[in-house]
Amino acid sequence: MERLRLAIQKKGRLNEKSIELIKKCGIKINSSGNILSTSSENFPIDVLFLRDDDIPGYIADGVADIGIVGQNEIDEHGANVKIIENLGFAKCRLSIAVPRDTTYRNINDLQGKTIATSYPNILQAYLDKNNLNAEIHTISGSVEIAPAIGLTDAICDLVSTGSTLLFNGLIEVEEIYTSAAVLAATPFLTENKQRIVDKFMQRISSVKHANAYKYILLNAPNKKIKDIIKILPGIKSPTVMPLAIDGWSSIHTVIPEDAFWEKINELKQYGAEGILVTPIEKIIE
Ligand code: ATP
Ligand code: MG
Repeated sequence: MERLRLAIQKKGRLNEKSIELIKKCGIKINSSGNILSTSSENFPIDVLFLRDDDIPGYIADGVADIGIVGQNEIDEHGANVKIIENLGFAKCRLSIAVPRDTTYRNINDLQGKTIATSYPNILQAYLDKNNLNAEIHTISGSVEIAPAIGLTDAICDLVSTGSTLLFNGLIEVEEIYTSAAVLAATPFLTENKQRIVDKFMQRISSVKHANAYKYILLNAPNKKIKDIIKILPGIKSPTVMPLAIDGWSSIHTVIPEDAFWEKINELKQYGAEGILVTPIEKIIE
């Protein structure tokens, strides 16, 4: 039977979450040590462990069928791949930053400046869009150090919390692009491989769906059950079970994580006690 080749990052910010997603999908893989590829024993997938920069190219060429990589790497390489799912982790932005003591009023202050980056194509597109001329120095790592060593006036780099910039005496002045991890596929999938991708996607969507919800259990006085059910939209409807103490019941339901805190306060107002909130592994619809 045909097997699907899935490329993930070997080491770095995407690695752990990629492996976690594969495992949560019930796909067993050996992710230990320094291996470069591995075959799942219970799903027709082989995993390749690669540098993230190489993943878009391998998918575009069909060497890998699908891959988990930052949207930024796909756009930077202009890779001919299909984005089939936004995975929502590894969120970051590509920003221009300047040394803290630079006078910076607006984007026009970048005119004629030098900027170090690992993302010359995305940066050039941004400069063009804003009719700016700036000289781009492409470097592959440690971009934040460029102004301090006198290489450039500014940098353009990925930021998530901003602490690395702060640590290097830089301030973020323009956010030019946002990114997160995506699942991308080659345009050359055979029908058989497409079928495996569909199966994998079905599992991913049940994991993603489950992540967005919480399972909640609480005890409530019977006379308040109606009010409580009104504010608890269950997947179908909440389960209500009598407790051993007279006049009290236990209510179980599933609610979106987003609505969580707001609901908790309302629930307490109705006399809910012993509220338990637990993660859900999968929701199959
Ligand atoms: P590799 O050795 O695989 O080339 P790398 O050093 O290029 O690794 P990482 O720093 O591990 O890459 O980042 C991988 C991806 O994680 C980035 O391309 C981006 O999509 C995402 N990311 C999320 N937050 C950040 C951040 N603060 N800095 C850099 N990348 C981030
Ligand atoms: Mg890289």
